[in-house]
Parts: sequence; structure tokens; C-alpha cells
Amino acid sequence: MHRFQTTAVHAGRDDFGALCVHAPPLDLSTTYPIADLAVGSASFDALVGGGATAANPIYARLHNPTVARAEAAIAALEGTEACVAYASGMAAMTAVLLARAQHGKHVLVVRPLYGTSDHLLASGMCGLEAEFVQADEIAARRRADTALVVIETPANPTLQLVDIRAVAAAAGEVPVLVDSTFATPVLQRPAEFGAAYVLHSATKFLGGHGDVIAGVVCCDEAHAAPLRTVRAATGALLHPLAAYLLHRGLPTLKLRVEAAQANAQVLAQRLQQHPAVARVFYPGLAGAHGAQLVGRQMRGPGCLMAFELHGGHAAAAAVMAAVKVMTPAVSLGSVDTLIQHPAGLTHRMVDDAVKAATGITPGLLRLSVGIEDVEDLWDDLAQSLAVASASVE
Ligand SMILES: *Cc1c(COP(=O)(O)O)cnc(C)c1O
Repeated sequence: MHRFQTTAVHAGRDDFGALCVHAPPLDLSTTYPIADLAVGSASFDALVGGGATAANPIYARLHNPTVARAEAAIAALEGTEACVAYASGMAAMTAVLLARAQHGKHVLVVRPLYGTSDHLLASGMCGLEAEFVQADEIAARRRADTALVVIETPANPTLQLVDIRAVAAAAGEVPVLVDSTFATPVLQRPAEFGAAYVLHSATKFLGGHGDVIAGVVCCDEAHAAPLRTVRAATGALLHPLAAYLLHRGLPTLKLRVEAAQANAQVLAQRLQQHPAVARVFYPGLAGAHGAQLVGRQMRGPGCLMAFELHGGHAAAAAVMAAVKVMTPAVSLGSVDTLIQHPAGLTHRMVDDAVKAATGITPGLLRLSVGIEDVEDLWDDLAQSLAVASASVE
């Protein structure tokens, strides 16, 4: 077992020596020659049954070696036996819900969540009944047909931290899914605290360069097999080119996260002093929700923050229009800084009453801090806040 950064550079490359290659081969085959029918039939059964590999990959919906290398690398970083990759983070979430639906209809969910995850669960689209609870209500609300507990930490968009170990204890036998997209395995490895499923929108930090849509679920082999069966049946697979790009981003994951996090800490502190800003949500600030988990559950406070403007919706819209270095855009976890308005964009589909109750106010902006020079980022924020203050007055 190597340390994290060595694993990040070398994982998922075990077969390179035998193949005599130095970069991952990009295998775009949709089908594979079957020289021996008996081997083909056995391989088909193994893969449809949820096996990670077989003597013959058979068909690209069942297995792809480029995807399998990226999966192996991410599993190594999360410290789990397996990783199953999907076409997007939402496809990954859907696969877990479909796999769990065979065990019961009831799901306990702690808000806030990524807007589309909230919508997917609240709509009952996957045939499950979601009950939204506080983290400390899980033990009391657990039922015989509870198939899953879903949490997100840090939570989107207000960066609350949820205590994974406490949730896993309260859930008992019921598996806990942690959406760890905001943390990445650099800052937090939820399986160490008892999470059965660790989900990432790999579109964000894991890919890291704003050019891949992907989702992964990291878990033990027993939980992974049904997830592969769901993927083979529903077809929500990761394209090999996307897997190649995802794998390529991993060696710099830690460097990117640490650089962006250092920038974020500076920006959060300066924003807190700014007269146009009413409140800053960032786990690295004293008194932040769950700040006591930084250093225990999370190695650092991360690269995302949200801040509330005194000027409400008009000021938030003006800041988004005024930024020059930052990009006004949804998504996060890229090398460049993105700023967006949760109430108007990512969390639009969340019920208005829930928005109000979870702090998704009209004046709230979310910042995904990149790895630019922090002084240029601050200059950009300061000039946009000034433009916004002038236009709102
Ligand atoms: C983006 C995101 C998702 C959804 O992932 P996609 O790759 O866009 O499907 C889920 N959870 C969190 C926390 C996210 O940021």
C-alpha cells in the first residue's frame, strides 16, 4: 500500500508493463471477438451477474478495460474494494436507488442535497418513498423496509458537515450512501467512517478540468455486484474516452484540491470582512456548521463556499454579471473558479419552502474556488461586489 499521492499517480496502471505502454490504452471497441463459445457464455454470465472482470469483455455495455482502469484507480483512492462508474453522478445515484429498491421501498434522506438528487428522491421516480429527516432522527425513523440512508457532506450549497460515523451508527444494518463530491478522497474517505456507498459526481473534482461528465460509486464487492448488474441492464455506462480523461485527472487531484482549498480559506476570510456580505458559509471559518468535523472527518475545509449578500437577488445577479476572471456557471471542482446562484440555477427544482428552510435564499451565491492566483480572484470578487453595491443602491 502506497501513500495517497503515489497511489494517485500509479493506480489503475497495473497492466501497463505487460502491455508495454506508458499511458492508458483507449479501447473504443463496442464488441469483442469470441474465439471460444463456452468461454464467451461463461463471461457473459459473469458480467451480467455483476462480476468486475471476465475472460472475455463480450460487449462494451458489460465491460470496458479503459473504464475498469479508472474504476480501479478511484477505488484505491477511496480505500474501497470496488468502484462502479456511470455516465454521470445522477446515473450513479439512480443505480444505487434501483439496486436498493429490491430490499425495501423506504429511504431516509438528510437535506440539503444537490438539487437534482433532492428532486430525484422527492419525486419518487425510482419507485422509492423518500422521507426527509434531520441526521439525529435517523435511528427513530428507521423502518423494517428502510433500504438506504442518503446524506451529502459537505452539503450543497450551504456547506453543512454531517457526522458520517454518527449517521452510520444510527442507520444500523441499513447501508448509508454518502455523496462525497465536495470533499474528494483527498479530504475525506467516508468508507472509513462506516459509509457503505461513497458517491461522487466525478464531473467535478475527480475529472477536474470541466470536460468530463461521470459518476462513480465506491463500495465493497458485495454492494458493487448489483450496481454492475443495474448498469448492464440500464445502460448508464461511462464512455471510455470520458474514463480516460477521468483517469488522467487523478494524478493531480491532491495538488488541485490543496491549492484551491488554500485559495478558498483566504477568500472566505476576506468575504467575511466585506460590507456587502451578510454571511459566509465555509467550514474553515470559526462557528461554521460542523466545523468541529474539520480535522476529524475532513482533512480540510475544502474548496467551496457560499455567501449571502445584503442586497438580495439583485446584488447576487449583479455580481454574477460583473465577474471577469471567474466564470458565472453551474458545476464545480474545476481548475478555474465558478460562481453561481443556487436559488436561480442548481436548486431551482427544490421546493420553495425547503429552499427557505435550508438557507437557499435569493441573495446566496456559491463559489467553487479554482487554482488561479488568489490575489486575482480577490480583485475580481472585490470589483464585482463594488459594481453590485453601486447598482443596488
Ligand atoms: C454535480 C453533482 C451531482 C450530479 O452529478 P452529475 O455528474 O452532474 O450527474 C450530484 N451530487 C453533487 C454533490 C454534485 O455536485
